[in-house]
Amino acid sequence: MESSIRLGRIAGIPIGIHYTWLFAFALVAWSLAVGFFPLNYPGWAPLTYWITGVVAALGLFACVLLHELSHSLVALARGHGVHSITLFIFGGVSNIAQESEEPADEFLISVVGPLTSFVLAAVFWGLVQLVPAGHSPLGALLAYLAVINLLLGAFNLLPGFPLDGGRVLRSIVWALTGSLRRATEVASYVGQGFGFLLIFWGVWQLLSGNFLGGLWIAFIGWFLNGAAETIRQQQVLRERLRGVRVAELMNPRPPIASPSLSVQDFVCTHVMREGHRAMLVEDEAGRLLGIVSITDAREVPQDNWATTPVGAIMTRMPLKTVAPDTDLADALQVLAENGLNQLPVLSDGRAVGLLTRADIMRYLQLREELNLRGAGGARSQVAAPGSGADRVAQGPAAAPPR
Ligand SMILES: [Zn+2]
Repeated sequence: MESSIRLGRIAGIPIGIHYTWLFAFALVAWSLAVGFFPLNYPGWAPLTYWITGVVAALGLFACVLLHELSHSLVALARGHGVHSITLFIFGGVSNIAQESEEPADEFLISVVGPLTSFVLAAVFWGLVQLVPAGHSPLGALLAYLAVINLLLGAFNLLPGFPLDGGRVLRSIVWALTGSLRRATEVASYVGQGFGFLLIFWGVWQLLSGNFLGGLWIAFIGWFLNGAAETIRQQQVLRERLRGVRVAELMNPRPPIASPSLSVQDFVCTHVMREGHRAMLVEDEAGRLLGIVSITDAREVPQDNWATTPVGAIMTRMPLKTVAPDTDLADALQVLAENGLNQLPVLSDGRAVGLLTRADIMRYLQLREELNLRGAGGARSQVAAPGSGADRVAQGPAAAPPR
């Protein structure tokens, strides 16, 4: 999830807010100011309810951020990269670079979130004891944060994907069976089960008069259900691509443009006639300068195509790239995480190929049509003719992307 608003960095991790978070913030502040606090603490001035409501909503999201930060810090400590943390309508997401390679990593990264929420609940509960009058706004605020952190920790421990508890369950099944695929299936089906339960519960609440609360619960159920299914599908896809190297599917003779090529020629000759969606841009010495795609061309008004060189509109180095022996499952993840359609394949700092989403889709489709099982075996026959795998396999591989 991309952040709409950047807040800054903590421990080097960019922290941001997705625009949907603003709805959640407004909803929480409003429901606290007109519902929860007046109901439980009658007799304050209206403005006091609003100030306490807004501060409590800010406190809640600060606690969600601490929860996510704990996931990210453990991920960093276990050697994973962390792209960002984004707060959105249903809470927060830590964008951790790779899937865990070991059950223990996944267990620790997942379990620390709910534990952090429980610790926060205990801290706020301790502070409540220090406030003399329990009926004051400060006491109410601390009590609310204690309860909400307890709920946050407990809800996230539900053993269904994509909740933390689902990841904990997956790591345990993974450790017991040795099969990540089996574990993902179990955790995602349980996750979908919880999703459906929440949808039913939400609809039931809605029908019995709790309109907003019911709608909210049903929405969370719907979100969990969808996320669990997506994770299972991604896992199946990763499984199919695992063990196949980029060199086997890439185009080893990618279309190459000089930076002075006009956008007009790029579109008319290379896109329309030759069917390329993107070209690598290299200087005369064969050094990769960048990549130009139809997305870049679309941003130039057509009247200017003849006079604009691709060098002016290309995406410049440093680009996201892969090495010839990068696993296709990892390459697809780089494509997906960055919303790209193609990746230059680099070896020793030189472009040796181009991998496109279409190459991967074609491979998956052929596999399906030929009824191929497993990643090995007939895969080299499925790779495009003259895939250049031998050529690139001899040179030392470029470092995998970070
Ligand atoms: Zn969590």
